[in-house]
Amino acid sequence: MVSVHLVHPGEGMAPWAAWETLSRGRQHPEPSHAYRGEYQRDRDRIIHSTAFRRLVYKTQVFVNHEGDHYRTRLTHSLEVAQIARTAARCLHLNEELVEAICLAHDLGHTPFGHAGQEALNACMKPWGGFEHNLQSLRVVDDLEERYAQFRGLNLTYETREGILKHCSKRNAKALGELGRRFIERGQPGLEAQLANLADEIAYNNHDVDDGLRAGLLTEDELAGVELFADHWNGVRDAHPRIGRREMIHETVRAMINDVVTDLVDHSRAALERAHPADAEAVRRRARPLIGFSRPTAKRHRALKTFLNKRLYRHERVMEMTEQATAVVVALFECFMGDVRAMPKSHAERALEGQEATGDAGQARAVADYVAGMTDRYALSGYARLVGASPDLEMRATDERRP
Ligand code: MG
Repeated sequence: MVSVHLVHPGEGMAPWAAWETLSRGRQHPEPSHAYRGEYQRDRDRIIHSTAFRRLVYKTQVFVNHEGDHYRTRLTHSLEVAQIARTAARCLHLNEELVEAICLAHDLGHTPFGHAGQEALNACMKPWGGFEHNLQSLRVVDDLEERYAQFRGLNLTYETREGILKHCSKRNAKALGELGRRFIERGQPGLEAQLANLADEIAYNNHDVDDGLRAGLLTEDELAGVELFADHWNGVRDAHPRIGRREMIHETVRAMINDVVTDLVDHSRAALERAHPADAEAVRRRARPLIGFSRPTAKRHRALKTFLNKRLYRHERVMEMTEQATAVVVALFECFMGDVRAMPKSHAERALEGQEATGDAGQARAVADYVAGMTDRYALSGYARLVGASPDLEMRATDERRP
């Protein structure tokens, strides 16, 4: 017989953490598992989902096939989970819940990152638009087809709450209990607050790394960003003889350590001051309790502003954005014109949608299909249906640099 060492769920957690015993539960009640906790099961379901595997072929800034060294949505999600778990452990929060939220937070992302999301949002304008956070929730609530008893992954309320980072008021109304905080301006649980900030920390810092590697950013430009400059200089003073690659990595490493340490210290102090009775008391507060100190928030924001201006709007990124937009729009229009150009199960959903709510229902099914595509699947679909293949290569220059 297998002997199982049972760890009491919640051991070592603070009163304000997400205690499983206080969970609002799953939409379809299920018996508990012999030796896995509820949030552990959520995480496991996410890892085994189709949408999770697709994250490896989806990217944020760089198109997936342009280089093997860049972050993909999958490695980004793992970095977010790593950062958030570290902080969760220091703050005595629920590490398993935070991990589940982080691994699922980008499941609803379209191909080609923000360009794809904006293009699909524009296509869906007449029918309520497209929001990637809401789409991540649709993936786990409805689109994954794996279980005999229910559609979706049937995750706990707390994981779903964490996935839904932002939501328009109109869409929030349709979500009932889960959407209420966007209308009444409450807060999500601490694990959700932490996952949200870990996401920001991960992408700001790894976009510096990827941007430098791709030759889209230079150290000289970044010298104007305090958070980068301080650590770059610190690393150079400590290790005057190391190469450029190590300099970049040591700097990014020090930047992440800096902001995560600040986040832990500041949040710990805020929690001790506020001392909420439990997770429900956290939700009733007007402001989040997890956050940076004011100086670090400012330094981190300055980095974000820099990346917005210099990396995401770099002319080479913009060129790629334009082509990615054209691909998404062409695919959407093609499937709206002929739903049978989609695989059978998607075509059926679109026809059912058309029958139930007209064009809105059909459009939603088409958007679900397009959003689920990986970068390369979208490109091959475009080549097949439109007969053209866009030049989405944004070649890395790293290999040519010393
Ligand atoms: Mg993210």
